[in-house]
Amino acid sequence: MSALQPVRGTHDLLPDEARRHRAIEAAAFACAGRAGFGEIATPIFEFTEVFARTLGETSDVVTKEMYSFTDRSGDSITLRPEGTAGVARAFLSGGLAQHLPLKLFYRGPMFRHERPQKGRLRQFHQIGVELLGVDNPLGDVEVLALAWRILSDLGLGAKVRLEINTLGDAPSRAAYRETLLAFLSGHIDQLSQESRQRMERNPLRVLDSKDEGDKRVVANAPLIHDSLTPEARDFFAAVTNGLEALGIPFEVNPRLVRGLDYYSHTAFEFTTTALGAQGTVLAGGRYDGLIGMMGGPPTPGIGWAAGVERLAMLIDEPPMPPRPVAVVPMGDGLLGLKIAESLRAAGVSVDMAFSGNLKKRMARAAKLNARFAVLLGEEELARGHVSLRDLDAATQTEVPLDGLVERLAQAE
Ligand code: ATP
Ligand code: MG
Repeated sequence: MSALQPVRGTHDLLPDEARRHRAIEAAAFACAGRAGFGEIATPIFEFTEVFARTLGETSDVVTKEMYSFTDRSGDSITLRPEGTAGVARAFLSGGLAQHLPLKLFYRGPMFRHERPQKGRLRQFHQIGVELLGVDNPLGDVEVLALAWRILSDLGLGAKVRLEINTLGDAPSRAAYRETLLAFLSGHIDQLSQESRQRMERNPLRVLDSKDEGDKRVVANAPLIHDSLTPEARDFFAAVTNGLEALGIPFEVNPRLVRGLDYYSHTAFEFTTTALGAQGTVLAGGRYDGLIGMMGGPPTPGIGWAAGVERLAMLIDEPPMPPRPVAVVPMGDGLLGLKIAESLRAAGVSVDMAFSGNLKKRMARAAKLNARFAVLLGEEELARGHVSLRDLDAATQTEVPLDGLVERLAQAE
């Protein structure tokens, strides 16, 4: 450990990378706004119970990945590993139940103590949405359509695949639990230690195991589809019909499950083959049990979250900010700064270097892809003029200082 290194699994977002993150957030924000989703920002830490109770005691996140600590008041606090539990907590503590249905969008850092690798960090960022108070399967379709629109706007329509499944309602899952447990018990000697331990408490969790031996067993496990109640079957059919009607491509993956306990009915993932093992870029599902589980009134919900770092590796270079004007003072730097400020006040992007000879400053202007350079030569200034250099055309004209702002504010 060295105090001057970033903590393992964290990274700095330098301007180029930050620009990619902003582009993703901006696309998500615009699409979510058009669909009526308002922004919510919950704290990045909560009482540990908020996550421990909801994500499931046997989930990977709770058993292995939470950043928990005791604060100076003796409270157990956890840095949020995901967004939904905090939103549900805010829904309850903020008395938002009177405002249903609620459409919420969030973005921000999440924290999980995982083994860092490409696309897997200990501090990463998510964008996500939640739709609360809608038990209609068209709610699932709308939330999926929003995900699809954001990914399409980011140019990723052809790079991702939507896989969808149902986890059924409570009676379907109770029936499936028995069937699955009987199957897993018959293969117990082939299962990992961890899966054996989790099996009794939550056999569904074994389906999501990343252990190779577990995966081989699970490949032949019975499917939840055979345990579905007619209601759960109809619900799923309504979701897939809706997707077809909207022309959103998807595949039913009967083996898809989600790692957290609060899901029911619809579960889905957008995956890509372009990122190796970390191929899931966006994932979510319906969580009708969550708010009741937290002690609130039974409130249906559906949502998803996407990993911004994974999306950032997939998108094309986002558009550059407007090209700046370079102000190049030859003598009086303060006059240069005054001119720069009056241009900025008029909406022009301006760069001004504080030192260096003319050659160095022109090289910097070229590096910044400046459109014009304003050269403040003493002799021209004495006549109330400056030199305006068009860096694309490589031409230079003298213009009166008092007309400069107007001239550049109109230039493209
Ligand atoms: P995985 O199977 O990759 O561990 P997960 O099921 O734990 O994913 P979710 O909890 O569904 O992931 O989070 C939603 C999305 O957030 C993921 O699809 C992924 O894009 C992103 N994500 C999750 N964990 C990380 C991480 N440690 N680093 C970077 N992105 C992550
Ligand atoms: Mg994970």
